[in-house]
Amino acid sequence: MEKKRIGLVAGPCSAENRSQMLETAWGLKALGVQMFRAGLWKPRSRWGSFEGVGAKGLPWMTEIQRELGLKVMTEVALPRHVEAVLKSGIDMVWIGARTTANPFMMSELAEALKGSRVTVWIKNPICPDIALWIGAVERLQNAGIQDVRVIHRGFCVVDSAPYRNAPLWELAELFRHYFPDLTYYCDPSHIAGKRGLLFPLCEKALSLGFDGLFVESHNCPEVALSDSAQQLTPTDLGALLRSLQVMIN
Ligand code: PEP
Ligand code: MN
Repeated sequence: MEKKRIGLVAGPCSAENRSQMLETAWGLKALGVQMFRAGLWKPRSRWGSFEGVGAKGLPWMTEIQRELGLKVMTEVALPRHVEAVLKSGIDMVWIGARTTANPFMMSELAEALKGSRVTVWIKNPICPDIALWIGAVERLQNAGIQDVRVIHRGFCVVDSAPYRNAPLWELAELFRHYFPDLTYYCDPSHIAGKRGLLFPLCEKALSLGFDGLFVESHNCPEVALSDSAQQLTPTDLGALLRSLQVMIN
């Protein structure tokens, strides 16, 4: 049977150190991954959790970009993140669920991104309110951002069991009617919260016509400094792609 071709963004929740980044990136490149993600500035709920290495990790990203030829992306939540990222020449950024939910922050980020050519991936807001999601895309488009792509990462609801975030697939479908021409990826990692739940979520997303997956992968998930339970080794990600019978586009 001909394998379905899908887009794939993969990489660790957080950039932790150079060897973790390079080892993970080499493992992913071996699978055919072309777009690498890693969070430098991490929005953590509790004070005292690992908040990312910040700008110190930018050279690790650009090394992966240069030496492995991967497109690299990180999360931006403040105008100073955008400034640092644009200066370093990173290819793409994503806007996280907590930021999409805040119209003030979206306006600030859209302003900071104005005139740049970076691809901007926008996650759904953490709460199930698609007006916030629509408004975030509108703010980016009004700022002249040409390449806006969408990530569905599930929503925070009172009872999301067994998931970390409820998928609420129908909301993602509804959102799509407003922007039918955008590219849609699903982030099963933040919906699931646990590796063991990833496979059926990926299957469902692909059956709904998502263009690709946005998956967290770490060379050694057990010791990851954030989202340890939901990350896959590159080898396990390869096995997941084989069970889904897909090829990376
Ligand atoms: C992430 O991608 O690591 C992240 C923090 O995601 P979200 O904004 O979806 O919680
Ligand atoms: Mn994460």
